[in-house]
Amino acid sequence: MINKYSFIFILLLFSISCTKNQLSNQTILEEEVEQIFSCVSYDDLLDSQNTDQDNLMQYWDKFVADVKCTTGGTDFGERNPILNIFFEYRSAAQIASGVTPDHIAYSTYSGYCNDSRVNVGVLYNEWTEKNLLQRLWIMYHEFGHDVYKYEHSSNPADIMFPSSTRSDIDINTFIEAKDRMINRSFPGIRYISCPSDS
Ligand SMILES: [Zn+2]
Repeated sequence: MINKYSFIFILLLFSISCTKNQLSNQTILEEEVEQIFSCVSYDDLLDSQNTDQDNLMQYWDKFVADVKCTTGGTDFGERNPILNIFFEYRSAAQIASGVTPDHIAYSTYSGYCNDSRVNVGVLYNEWTEKNLLQRLWIMYHEFGHDVYKYEHSSNPADIMFPSSTRSDIDINTFIEAKDRMINRSFPGIRYISCPSDS
């Protein structure tokens, strides 16, 4: 009789601990997908149903709104009235210089050394091969050159790292990186020098 009861007790314990484990696993999963705070939402740009995905101005508008609310005032939209953000249909090999090492987009002297102008070209074929979060990352990278005059970072976690980010990153990785970028708080930060700076 004693043996029989102890067997039931052990079984009960086992099933309770199972339930507990399942519960805590569920809680962890929910915590993992919770999005960290950003003062703008990226849902529109990351919506695969968005029929306007090739409209590059959306990325500029998002970036401007993001910087404005993250910093509490800086308005790059006002500072940069001349916008030239366009698709390139040439191949990377046909564009002599200024293309990022993975050949997706570039900003030029006429943009980053002109405080009132944004000049960013995006290679259309390579662009279409990237997912929506990578595209957001790429555009922020080019705006980082153009309006912040950032040089590249050596940290792959930074938006200013010279290669576009991995396809499997999540939105929180992007938000953390863009916050460091907008707040000028990534290590080893360097600026492009322009003739007017000297
Ligand atoms: Zn770059």
